[in-house]
Amino acid sequence: MHLLDRIDQWARIAPDRPAHVSGQSQMTFSELRRRSDALAAWIDRELADKPGPVAVIGHKEPEMLVAFLATVKAGRPYVPVDLSIPAQRVERILEGAQAALVLRPAEIAAMDLPDAAAPARRVQGDDPFYILFTSGSTGEPKGVVITLANLESFVAWMLAEQPLTETGEVFLNQAPFSFDLSVMDLYLSLATGGTLFSITKDEVANLKDLYVALARSGVTSWVSTPSFAQMCLIERTFNQTMLPGMRRFLFCGETLAPETAQQLLERFPEAVVWNTYGPTEATVATTSVLVDRELLARHSPLPVGRAMPGTELLILDEQGAEVPEGERGEIVIVGPNVSPGYLAKPELTAKVFSLRNGVRAYRTGDWGRTREGLIFFEGRMDGQVKLNGYRIELGDLEANLRTLPEVADALVLPQVKEGRVDALVAFIVPAGARPESDFAFAAQLKTSLGQRLPAYMVPRKFKFLEAFPMTANGKADRRKLAEML
Ligand code: AMP
Repeated sequence: MHLLDRIDQWARIAPDRPAHVSGQSQMTFSELRRRSDALAAWIDRELADKPGPVAVIGHKEPEMLVAFLATVKAGRPYVPVDLSIPAQRVERILEGAQAALVLRPAEIAAMDLPDAAAPARRVQGDDPFYILFTSGSTGEPKGVVITLANLESFVAWMLAEQPLTETGEVFLNQAPFSFDLSVMDLYLSLATGGTLFSITKDEVANLKDLYVALARSGVTSWVSTPSFAQMCLIERTFNQTMLPGMRRFLFCGETLAPETAQQLLERFPEAVVWNTYGPTEATVATTSVLVDRELLARHSPLPVGRAMPGTELLILDEQGAEVPEGERGEIVIVGPNVSPGYLAKPELTAKVFSLRNGVRAYRTGDWGRTREGLIFFEGRMDGQVKLNGYRIELGDLEANLRTLPEVADALVLPQVKEGRVDALVAFIVPAGARPESDFAFAAQLKTSLGQRLPAYMVPRKFKFLEAFPMTANGKADRRKLAEML
């Protein structure tokens, strides 16, 4: 069944079931269907033959879901943009996407559209369904194109693996819609007639509100980064009594520490924990493993599991040959969940995407190893880091720092604590006279950078140097800098 039909059927079967809850607002499946059909008809009329995707800029409002579905019902991909992304970067995303239209929740809410049938030209097969912009190493965000077929292969796998109760689940939506982890909760929830329970940025900013919201959420299926769950675990009452219906935790996006899994199993005796792994370029996740007590007893660090059926995960050496079991190599994903590439960036696409025996393949840049039939993630081959689940190219940050007039040169290093990136540290060679106070200078740079980049990318610490230490062959010596941390 077409994913859109699978979603729309709930408007008939369970019209009054809430499809989305966010803060004080609630939207039922029948409203979601009616509003997305009407908006789709409007988009189709308004844009006619003008090409291009529709950018949707907002946070966790119900109109975000209305706009996503309306756009694909009108045969176009949507570009989700969260409010945490500052205006300058949004500009670059909109230019990069060549968006035909920008929609915002408040505008959609004020539209007062007449009921209408959705247009006939909805997204099909290999048509782009969404375009997600991630950090690019040059300082330009890059748009990953995900087709309907990509998304359907991901959803079909998850539905086969997770025994979800139709119209019986409440999914936690922690990630902003501009981060592909949110695709997991959004579409698993919509496809099964579940309720998507969005945690808003205001609730995360005020932890008291967060736990009040969680306690009334009725969440049964938890989808978040491990960092977010770890933060919740600090609250002692975060347990099965707070969330009696909790059945499963699904993690993706960064390393799941065994201690986090262990604590969750203790606090939530009725729930299971899954670790899943994958890049945006291969539609959310590609491997999975159930993290039970037996697995915890056998493995530390934890494996990321096995590839989804129908997709191959290869560990290759520099020549592109498979390495023997137990040896380290680059993780390459081959299968129907692999994206056709980056939007309007053929050279970048050709660098990391290819065909293997006629099937699309993506070189992840991740180190991996197979042991006892399980895949282990062993870090990045390049300057990409994960901070609280967010994907950050250090090159992106450095390029943005260097464009500031006060900065002559910049390097950014991750500070690692207990095997996880804990903070980013920027090493700066100031241009011109250095201000008297390092503290004030750092604050000034944080403000300027905050206008260009999302807050999660702004380094927490700044160190100022006259010049960078050099390696023997004249490169900035990152190792020496790391010793200064
Ligand atoms: P993103 O495209 O934001 O989902 O980031 C993808 C990258 O996050 C992968 O290439 C990995 O480097 C990392 N990653 C994703 N899932 C996991 C996981 N379960 N364990 C460790 N790292 C992960």
